[in-house]
Parts: sequence; structure tokens; C-alpha cells
Amino acid sequence: MKIICIGRNYADHIDELDSFRSDEPLIFIKPDTAIAQSNLPFFIPEFSNEVHHEVEVLVLINRIGKHIHSKFAHKYYDQIGLGIDFTARDVQQQLKSKGLPWEKAKAFDGSAFVGKWFDKSTLGDLGKLSFSLQKNGEVVQKSDTSLMLWSVDEIIAYVSKYFTLKIGDIIFTGTPAGVSQVMKNDRLEGHLNGKKALNLIIK
Ligand code: MG
Repeated sequence: MKIICIGRNYADHIDELDSFRSDEPLIFIKPDTAIAQSNLPFFIPEFSNEVHHEVEVLVLINRIGKHIHSKFAHKYYDQIGLGIDFTARDVQQQLKSKGLPWEKAKAFDGSAFVGKWFDKSTLGDLGKLSFSLQKNGEVVQKSDTSLMLWSVDEIIAYVSKYFTLKIGDIIFTGTPAGVSQVMKNDRLEGHLNGKKALNLIIK
């Protein structure tokens, strides 16, 4: 399986990182070794002094597909979840400044934390899903899927032009503003439409 991530999908996060808004979705991929076990802590890797949390709505692909029309994209997923795209921001800034690929900053072991999955029929309107992340009990990221620049179905249509989607692939749909550094012993807790969707400790 593979993990397909969308970058710069919320205007407020583009602004906080001083990035530019692209006219097409920004895509990057994490390997299956990036998946973090949801029952274990997240360990800050020794090559970074600044790992950030990015809470994101996740989509679990349940059918194989290529060149999927956005009108039919909803047939390719039943489960929606919440996860964290852990990012070594210091490494990413160095790579970006040299125009180099981001993999070392974004795709390292454990960088894709996947929380609980929910049947999409239990979540109501997927275009208006609220989600949030608390760090040590304080809300640090809070948004709504209505603020995505590209919707889940538009993302599936775009991504599947380049990559065949397979059963078990996970799409990370981008993070809103509020990303910040995680420190040893921080506790992260995420909610999706008011339901507890993830919980982890940083080590
Ligand atoms: Mg992200």
C-alpha cells in the first residue's frame, strides 16, 4: 500500500508557512514503512530538532482505480479517519531552500500516524466535517473540510491521473493552520465531528 499526501490544501496553513498557493493540488507519497502503530508512542527521530504535527482528515481507498472521475470518486471509499502527517520542519526547510525533494522530512519511519476509522455513513456531510487536535489538553488545530481548497472527490480524481489507487491506500488530505513543534511527553488527541479519533504520546 501507499500513502498519498496533499500539501497546501487549506489557505490558512499556506499563509502560516508563507508558502504559495498552487493552481493544482500538491502531492507527495510516503512508503508503507511510514505508518505508525497506533498503540505505540511517536518517537522524535534523532535527525530533526523540529518535528511538527499536522492533523489531517484521512480517506481509506477500498477499490482499485485509475482516471477516476470526481463524480464517481465517492464509490472508492467507505472509511474516513484522522491522522497526523509528522513533518521534520527543519529538514523540510533545508530541502525546500535547495529545491530538493521532501522525502527525508515527510516520509521517514513513523511519520504517518493513522487513528481510528469511521464508516462515512456515520459522519454526515463529508464536505462539512469538523476536526481538531489538542496538545496537552489545549486545542492547537481546528478546522472543517469545507475549507479545503480541493475536496476529497477532486483529490481522488486528480491523484488517480498519475497513480493507480489500490485497496488499502490512504490519502492524507492536508492540514489547516496551527502546526507546531512536538516535544517529548506531549500528548496529542484528535476529534472528528466530535468523536475521539486519535490519541498518542510523543517520546
Ligand atoms: Mg501535511
